[in-house]
Amino acid sequence: MLGDIVSVIDDHRVYTSMIKIGIAGVPLALKGKSTAEGVEYLARIGLDALEVQFVRQVSMKEETAVQVGHVAREAKIDLSVHAPYMINLASEDPQIIEDSKNRIRLSLDRGHALGARIVVFHSAYYTKKYTKDETYELVTDACAGLLDYMRDRGIERTQLGVELLGRQSQFGTVDELQRLHQELPDIRPVIDFAHLHARCNGCLHTVEDYARPLRALFSDHSHLHSHFSGIEFSKGNERRHLPVDLVQFRLLVSALKENACDATIICESPLLEQDAVKMKPFVE
Ligand SMILES: [Zn+2]
Repeated sequence: MLGDIVSVIDDHRVYTSMIKIGIAGVPLALKGKSTAEGVEYLARIGLDALEVQFVRQVSMKEETAVQVGHVAREAKIDLSVHAPYMINLASEDPQIIEDSKNRIRLSLDRGHALGARIVVFHSAYYTKKYTKDETYELVTDACAGLLDYMRDRGIERTQLGVELLGRQSQFGTVDELQRLHQELPDIRPVIDFAHLHARCNGCLHTVEDYARPLRALFSDHSHLHSHFSGIEFSKGNERRHLPVDLVQFRLLVSALKENACDATIICESPLLEQDAVKMKPFVE
């Protein structure tokens, strides 16, 4: 009898969605404090995840990353990494492409030391020199090389994620990420829903609007890493992040549950953990 019950639970478990909530960077309440202290604080206020941000450069030493990783495992906080912003894998200048790859490689090394689930990066800008297809090829070639690097270094638990970006000048639409993920399945699409909303000039209004990119990119029920916040935009370009609109957030959560998506949602609102703790009850 017990066996029957367990197998029913197992059957259901395949298609339930587990949603974790976290923030990007150091909590507002701990301005100027260390990443390890941030991790412990997030656990105390009931959050699940932290995205370590390397804004300009990978400034964290390897030994610090190992130590933060220990603290995070103890505190049951999932870690991810955001690579530095100065990256363009489709630059007209080959040196910029090489420097960009180096920043991503270093972010991967630190992500590995942290035990992070994923390293997220902003991949590229379109240029006058290359068509959109050529831009796609340059990004794909660079990503294939980065996957080789990960294999050579034995980086297995930490994945590489290409973010959906919020400006018309940037590579990273749903279609481009879908194509890239189909060609290189180990490259993970990362949906920033605020970027998506800005890029499509405010197109996210219903559960179905949120479900469509999930079906395009996560039909295999693999774990979705994502960013969420309000957003100010004009003419399909993001202007700045705004506090979370809980009505919008509820639509996303419904779409995730209907599509049985496991997800980590990183709150990128200017109110960081203050908004994240308001989001948390919606996913429980
Ligand atoms: Zn980002």
